[in-house]
Amino acid sequence: MLPIADFHPRTLLTRLGRLLYPARCPVCREVADENAGLCAGCAHCLPWSPAACGRCALPLPAAMAAALPLHDASAVRATCGECLRQPPPLQFAQASFLYGFPLDRLLPRFKFHRDLVCGRLLSQWMLPGCAAAPRPQALLPVPLHAARLRERGYDQALELARPLARALELPLRGDLVRLRATTAQSSLDAVARRRNLRGAFTVEARRPLPGHVALVDDVMTTGATLHAAARALHRAGVARVDAWVCARVP
Ligand SMILES: [Zn+2]
Ligand SMILES: [Zn+2]
Repeated sequence: MLPIADFHPRTLLTRLGRLLYPARCPVCREVADENAGLCAGCAHCLPWSPAACGRCALPLPAAMAAALPLHDASAVRATCGECLRQPPPLQFAQASFLYGFPLDRLLPRFKFHRDLVCGRLLSQWMLPGCAAAPRPQALLPVPLHAARLRERGYDQALELARPLARALELPLRGDLVRLRATTAQSSLDAVARRRNLRGAFTVEARRPLPGHVALVDDVMTTGATLHAAARALHRAGVARVDAWVCARVP
């Protein structure tokens, strides 16, 4: 027998509504699985990150990945050769996905077309990986410049960080500030990206920042933006900066 609550008129209306207007997959418009948020086909395609370097979140070479202990949820991960040669300013980088289908549809919808429902879905998918990562003392979304924020109306990194902070009971800090509206990074090569970001961030902390924080952003491409933000935090006295991103461009 159904519990009494299921006969509540509002519950029945919601059910009827779902029957008449089922939730649609934001990628292909097929009927979505209510829990997954996508249709079964698109959910199956999600490019979950394989075994990756703990410093740059790039997939590890197959031989290195094979040598890792199975189900390594301790988040003590191997470091790739590149990061051993030239350690990046991030102590740890966690990416839930590699950038590819269907994230190449979902992330732009979220970022440029105000699809905040998509953002919530992405944040939900980021949660298990972030929960298994070394626990920081605070989360800091990578901020947009004030002019771009005005134009867009919301900050995609903050939209991802807010539910994560709530679920993991971590303070969310907005002390990182973007000083310059930098040229769109996507139009630049790696060297130009670094130059473009020099002096782009500063820290305006009203209270002292803790010693270990994690930056939150949507996509990590070369890492130049996150590295610039991490350097600004180090200059402000933060000893350890990690990064949690939704997708890593391989
Ligand atoms: Zn679909
Ligand atoms: Zn690496």
